[in-house]
Amino acid sequence: MQGLVRVRGRVQGVGFRPFVYRLARELDLSGWVRNDPKGVEIAISGKDDAVSDFLNRLESESPVLSKVEKIEFSLSQEREREGGFTIRESLEGRADTGIPPDVSVCPECVSELFDPSNRRYRHPFINCTHCGPRFTLLSNLPYDRKHTSMGHFQMCPECHAEYLDPADRRFHAQPNACGNCGPVLTFHDVNGQPISGDGIANALDAILSGKIVAVKGVGGFHLFCDAKNRASIERLRNSKARMEKPLALMAANVPSLLPYAHVGDNEKALLESRERPILLLKKRRELVGIAPGVIHVGAMLPYSPIHYLLFHEAAGRPDGISWLECAQDLILVATSANPRGEPIVIENDDALNRLDADLFLVHDREILSRCDDSVMRWTGSSAQFVRRARGYAPSAVSMPISGPSVLATGSGYKNTICLTRRNEAFVSQHIGDLDNAAACMAMEEAVDRLMKLLNAEPEIVAHDLHPDIYCTKFAQGFSERLGIPCMGIQHHHAHVASVMAEHGLTGPVTGLALDGTGLGNDGAAWGGELLHVDEKGGFLRLGHLAEMLLPGGDAASREPWRIAAGFLHSRGRMEELEMRYGRMGAALNQMIERRFNTPVASSMGRLFDAAAALLGIMEKTTFEGQAAMLLEKMAEGYGQVKPMENACILENGVLDFSPLLDEISLVRGKEYGAALFHCSLVEGLKYWVLAENAEKIVFSGGCFMNSLLSTGLRKSLEKEGVAVFEALCLPPNDGGISLGQCYAAMLGKMSCA
Ligand code: ZN
Ligand code: ZN
Ligand code: FE
Repeated sequence: MQGLVRVRGRVQGVGFRPFVYRLARELDLSGWVRNDPKGVEIAISGKDDAVSDFLNRLESESPVLSKVEKIEFSLSQEREREGGFTIRESLEGRADTGIPPDVSVCPECVSELFDPSNRRYRHPFINCTHCGPRFTLLSNLPYDRKHTSMGHFQMCPECHAEYLDPADRRFHAQPNACGNCGPVLTFHDVNGQPISGDGIANALDAILSGKIVAVKGVGGFHLFCDAKNRASIERLRNSKARMEKPLALMAANVPSLLPYAHVGDNEKALLESRERPILLLKKRRELVGIAPGVIHVGAMLPYSPIHYLLFHEAAGRPDGISWLECAQDLILVATSANPRGEPIVIENDDALNRLDADLFLVHDREILSRCDDSVMRWTGSSAQFVRRARGYAPSAVSMPISGPSVLATGSGYKNTICLTRRNEAFVSQHIGDLDNAAACMAMEEAVDRLMKLLNAEPEIVAHDLHPDIYCTKFAQGFSERLGIPCMGIQHHHAHVASVMAEHGLTGPVTGLALDGTGLGNDGAAWGGELLHVDEKGGFLRLGHLAEMLLPGGDAASREPWRIAAGFLHSRGRMEELEMRYGRMGAALNQMIERRFNTPVASSMGRLFDAAAALLGIMEKTTFEGQAAMLLEKMAEGYGQVKPMENACILENGVLDFSPLLDEISLVRGKEYGAALFHCSLVEGLKYWVLAENAEKIVFSGGCFMNSLLSTGLRKSLEKEGVAVFEALCLPPNDGGISLGQCYAAMLGKMSCA
């Protein structure tokens, strides 16, 4: 029998051709295999049983990093003339395949890295077909060396021999290199002058003596310092102008983290997964200055050989890998190097000129796509993203419908963009807040890169309703330039649609969006919505949280005390307002009376702010969600309490938690108040959802990052027989908005057609 096999999915850059080659040889089949823009194409001929065996094992034994979506086999008459099996040159053309994300260095490479007899002993760029950078090095598909930033490195004869040997683990490993032919690691002082000696040893010395070292990693630079050195941490925070936001840690292994954090089995598996995200772990012992005022500390394990080498140096360069089983003393702060909230730095010159580091550990392998570390948490039943980037982006999310290619430009905060191709949605890596020119440029770059890598031409562009944010303006300009239609998708509709897309729900569903704020269809600020979302890409606002006053407008979202003041005012408690906040309180009273710069919002985020300020635990915040995080920590510290009865009033679809806030403002004990707030909120929201007779409910919006709220509400609704869908493939926060915009636009377009 002879025929052609077409394999679709993520089959390039993952060792698929060598796998096919070995399998064909083992089964004594002749023919060839090659990459082409559609994926992998195989011609085989041989005995009937062998061919059918081949087809079965093609899927069941495929390489770990591959994702086979479809295998098609067609019989052909023509016999392969040449005997044997070969790997043919790739065919170029319009790409139609998946984009492989970056993966951490694999166990085999790690053991070679620490084997003094191996020719890659301590080589900082070791990789093979099972591991190493992909997306961040890639300029084009198909995934071949010349389309990566390794293209201009000439392989030495030994590396080239491995590359050509189908029996070798480095057969067609595109970034293959060794100490003789690969990129070079160098260490520099503040002036960019190279420092002689061993870069790894020097960098570790510097870190241990309290210095801040910028290290070029896979998707960008990190700032490293000793996590046990308070002075270094303070300096790092000053230089990043990031006084309270948590910093991530890196440790050699899980045992090294155990003194500081609780690590369950599921969490261990996530930490050790080849995607190597930063995982939020419940703190056991505080490391001063790392993550003040929150329950969790973010930690990750080494993923680039450079990281491993630093820990190996700290352990005294032992031979072999047994040291990697034991707890190590060294814990590093490893925070993204992104000056003033701009995107992560990827270029050496940029790092030297703009990063406030003492020293620089850099190399000459270019990063083509910037990609931050992903951040995840374990919810108790599944893993959830806080930020989706390295290791995951831009893997596709499969949607239940197929349609024209849609580009969505996401939200102004925690921006991602999304481009669809048939039923696949490719969400970019986390780009960040579009409040600076560099971030806006990074967004445009991400659009260009995805269009190029996917070879997709958008036919529709979708965006947020907010007219003033950069992503909306960009979308409108883009639609004009290409002459394609432009669709505005309401923020919370997009939140809900994002979760629908990943769970394959076409509607109708009830969506609960608990969020900061997003612009509503009526021009008001929304953020606590119960929506009916239909299968035609439309929605109905079933109800919302009672509106709260935001005296001072934007300032109110950074100063929770203003929301508390607005609440007291709305309850006629003006005297108390002035007692609490003195002269400022009096000024605010007048401001509200005259409705001067006092917009309203129906936002769950602002409800949390009000509660935090009424309890006196946080008056001003330095980052979004900070008050809610502190409130959660205090509630968690207190434990179980009985929810307040009649904590809210539901009237004409408006859910008003004023009775709860009244109670909170009077209770003694901040922890008790925080716990009472959380559990009463869960009760009230459950009542609201049940009042709508929802059978299926979708949770989305940034407030679902609060696990007391999300887990509490999920469990209590499931007890009532309601099916709950949460954001898992993408974050529930604004990082998922672009997917929701695409999906809502596709549903809308399909129902028009
Ligand atoms: Zn490897
Ligand atoms: Zn070499
Ligand atoms: Fe949002």
